[in-house]
Amino acid sequence: MFQGPFAESIIHNAIDEQLLSIHIHNIRDYTTDKHHVTDDYAYGGGGGMVMKPDPIFTAVESVLGLTKSQDSIMQNTDSAVQDLALNTQLPLLSTPIILMSPAGRRFNHEMAKELARHERIALICGHYEGVDERVREQLCTDAISIGDYVLTGGELPAMVIVDAVARQIPKVLPEFAPLNESHANGLLEYPHYTRPPEFRGWRVPDILLSGHHANIKKWRQQQSELRTRAASSQRSILEG
Ligand code: SAH
Repeated sequence: MFQGPFAESIIHNAIDEQLLSIHIHNIRDYTTDKHHVTDDYAYGGGGGMVMKPDPIFTAVESVLGLTKSQDSIMQNTDSAVQDLALNTQLPLLSTPIILMSPAGRRFNHEMAKELARHERIALICGHYEGVDERVREQLCTDAISIGDYVLTGGELPAMVIVDAVARQIPKVLPEFAPLNESHANGLLEYPHYTRPPEFRGWRVPDILLSGHHANIKKWRQQQSELRTRAASSQRSILEG
């Protein structure tokens, strides 16, 4: 699941330039039984399987505590991430260990910025009905939700977080990019236009063609404020 998104565009370049490395570990590889079972029936009944604590604890402790990350699928496809020793000597405590969970804190721009300051982060992807609660209580430092809906697994949420965090790492984006972006300064970004100046009868606002930089700046600021106000009143209507 991870190979596609991380092999493209900005994230791919960032890996290539060693600004970031991504290691993927299969929890199943940390089971000790013959069939590599990672789930079991829920105590108390009810349908659905629950991910067992043992393989997850073992996986996280082994990945963060030391060792070789030979199970990273990115390793084979990208020479830039082959030097996996880079981030693996750090003490366990300094690494946020985050469970992907619809019951977690709602992910946002501030959290992405905060996570980008860490040398490394560990994201745990759940499946089935969820994960034994002791993982959240005793192993994880945090639980994050990417929105108020339920997905079939934690992989997509983890990829969303990696993408958003990667953009906050210095040099991943061009210098100018992160400053005006939506959410960076509490405002949504102004609308963008490119050529042609008229498309199917819809014209680019005259001011953008005027070449008058001060006025353009003012117009963009106004548009940002309008959009932000519109979006926040829409949200407060939705949230009742
Ligand atoms: N029964 C659970 C949902 C399990 S979904 C409940 O009702 O809360 C299976 C896994 O997908 C979860 O363990 C989690 O890792 C991941 N997941 C699903 N939706 C998510 C979301 N909105 N944000 C983050 N992770 C999510």
